[in-house]
Amino acid sequence: MLTTKPRGVNDILPDEVWKWHYVENYLRDLAGRFGFQELRIPIFEHTELFQRGIGDTSDVVEKEMYTFTDRGDRSLTLRPEGTAGVARSFVENKLYSGTLPGKYYYVGPMFRYDRPQAGRYRQFNQFGIETIGGHEPAIDSEAVAFAYEIFHGLGLENVLVHLNSVGCPVCRKAYRAALQDHLRPALHDLCETCQTRFDRNPMRILDCKSKHCHELVQGAPSITQYLCEDCQNHFDQVKKILEAMGIPYAVDQNLVRGLDYYTRTAFEITAGKEGSQSAICGGGRYDNLIEEIGGPALPGIGFALGMERLLLTLEQQGSQLQKPDSCDVFVAGLGGNAEILTSQLCHSLRLSGLRVQRDYQGKGLKAQMKAADRVAAKIVLIIGDDEIARQAVICRQMANGEQTTISVNDAVSYVQQKLSAIKVEGDIK
Ligand code: AMP
Repeated sequence: MLTTKPRGVNDILPDEVWKWHYVENYLRDLAGRFGFQELRIPIFEHTELFQRGIGDTSDVVEKEMYTFTDRGDRSLTLRPEGTAGVARSFVENKLYSGTLPGKYYYVGPMFRYDRPQAGRYRQFNQFGIETIGGHEPAIDSEAVAFAYEIFHGLGLENVLVHLNSVGCPVCRKAYRAALQDHLRPALHDLCETCQTRFDRNPMRILDCKSKHCHELVQGAPSITQYLCEDCQNHFDQVKKILEAMGIPYAVDQNLVRGLDYYTRTAFEITAGKEGSQSAICGGGRYDNLIEEIGGPALPGIGFALGMERLLLTLEQQGSQLQKPDSCDVFVAGLGGNAEILTSQLCHSLRLSGLRVQRDYQGKGLKAQMKAADRVAAKIVLIIGDDEIARQAVICRQMANGEQTTISVNDAVSYVQQKLSAIKVEGDIK
């Protein structure tokens, strides 16, 4: 127990963590290019925020929240997603009094009590954006274009945008009735969950993961046939802008997304293999959320992607991310007499900005050279008894075996020069 992690959580080991840094840096850069700023929201919030903000009939709220009572008898919940927290922060900090729309991104862990499997965890990480305070279709198209570019820009193949409009409360009313009429004869064949959804939120039946329900909803009327004029115009304009930007998409009339607060544009992005786990990103418009949680009546739109699923897809598609160098210089001190000079030299090299590694166990030259090789050091500095006597070090360039003896005082500047020369050579190649 003490040395076993709970189900559904992951360690990200040092051998893997560079990929996370790579993708996170890429996402932050892209967010900047699209005009989004980071908003850091808390890991836990009042439970009620998620109940109101996500909706009582969603799977997340019904079955998946990590809710606990704290020592002050308050009900708190580990955030299962980021939108509700961003919306709460937007209202609480009166961000609506600044320039609108506000454009925010977040990145970090989310928690859902779900059945763990490949690509589905109880603690997972999301990157997401929210644009709050604008209803223009260009904002929807920009969100979709941003999401698409994340995957496209990383070189993923088979990136598909599935797009739909789920209408607004006005058009959903008529649609809901038509959908219920269609499903009523098959009501008792639906899965248990969908039977309870029938009255509360029949649109959710459309994206039920049960194969049987999936078959039963074939031929059901689609929301797109029931869109009111405003919603239809909005949807048409979103599609038109996407086409002008060259973003490929396919309208998917069964796409309703799991959360209750979505209005109008809803989308998902898949990449690679078919299957229930293939959605890496989902998002949509939520024009009633900010008001629902007690803020001004401002519309919003956002998306979130699963970092684990993104990394998994990159791996499945054989994408080569560039691993950063872990070591510039390895300092190989030989024998006890070299201890002080080795430590001094490592420290000076590190202060000059270089990545420096060394041995601590008094290993022989051969073993230390092997260690230097393992960390792909470009240069090894060797300090033996002779060198100590002469206050010198041997500088070995690993790529070609070239060796020069230099004075200790010149070591830092010499190594820096050598590394710049190696870099220039590498760039020319
Ligand atoms: P959602 O907030 O449910 O729309 O999910 C957005 C994205 O987060 C999904 O497309 C997945 O990539 C990811 N995601 C959702 N739930 C999990 C989970 N339990 N484990 C890993 N990734 C998840």
